[in-house]
Amino acid sequence: MNGCAIITGASRGIGRAVALRLAADGIPVVINCVERLDAAEAVAREIISAGGSALCWRCDISDPRQTEEMAEYAEAHLGHIDILVNNAGISQQKLFTDITDADWERMMAVHVTGTFNCCRAVLPGMISRKYGRIINISSVWGISGGSCEVHYSAAKAAVIGLTKALAKEVAQSGVTVNCVAPGAIDTEMNSHLNQNELRELAEEIPAGRLGTPDEVAEAAAFFARPGASYITGQILSPNGGWLA
Ligand code: NAP
Repeated sequence: MNGCAIITGASRGIGRAVALRLAADGIPVVINCVERLDAAEAVAREIISAGGSALCWRCDISDPRQTEEMAEYAEAHLGHIDILVNNAGISQQKLFTDITDADWERMMAVHVTGTFNCCRAVLPGMISRKYGRIINISSVWGISGGSCEVHYSAAKAAVIGLTKALAKEVAQSGVTVNCVAPGAIDTEMNSHLNQNELRELAEEIPAGRLGTPDEVAEAAAFFARPGASYITGQILSPNGGWLA
């Protein structure tokens, strides 16, 4: 293990925290984003100024050609890929009957196809080196289902199924595939909630508050460790006791 990590959706929120956490462990990181290259570059600068290595790559993970290019770029500039964190995501709150074909397809494209594309881009190298750590970010909604987020919940449940099946398939190749399924985390993804809604949500959570991106990064960093070699196909849910 002396290669790099790709973290999708690392320009902000949970992905940013994961990138900073892995970089602090001495791992060179590729900061992926789809639009906000300025934000991704700010994350990279923060890592480099702390003595780490980081590069940015803007691409849409739902496009297989673009994810292949990202993997090639990572290998050319930072060395082989040891760690992939499939974190990039979108959310949408809608009644089931209001979900359009385009809403459904985009949700599946980013979360399910995006995770598939990125895994496929890095796995051949991991298998041939007999080492790899894939960490997929799902959600408590992928486990329990969330009202008015049926397409999001279905996509996140698919990520859990992909994790478990792929873990079995590549276990003998020294590649682990695990899942982090966060509860409510304080990021832009929850910026649609007003102060009252945030307070009510916090009251539902035994910890009495939303989680922080750093608290999710801690779970991802655990799975990314070389020593986590016998842990695969697992789901770890940092959720403040919300879903036990
Ligand atoms: P966020 O703050 O909204 O950030 C989303 C990130 O994903 C951004 O970096 C964004 O890039 C990137 N992204 C979106 N679509 C992409 C695409 N097609 N290709 C590449 N990058 C793309 O989200 P977050 O709260 O940190 O969530 C991160 C992950 O955790 C998501 O998978 C989310 O579903 C999951 N999660 C979040 C929560 C929560 O409460 N926040 C709870 C459970 C699970 P740009 O900046 O360029 O737009």
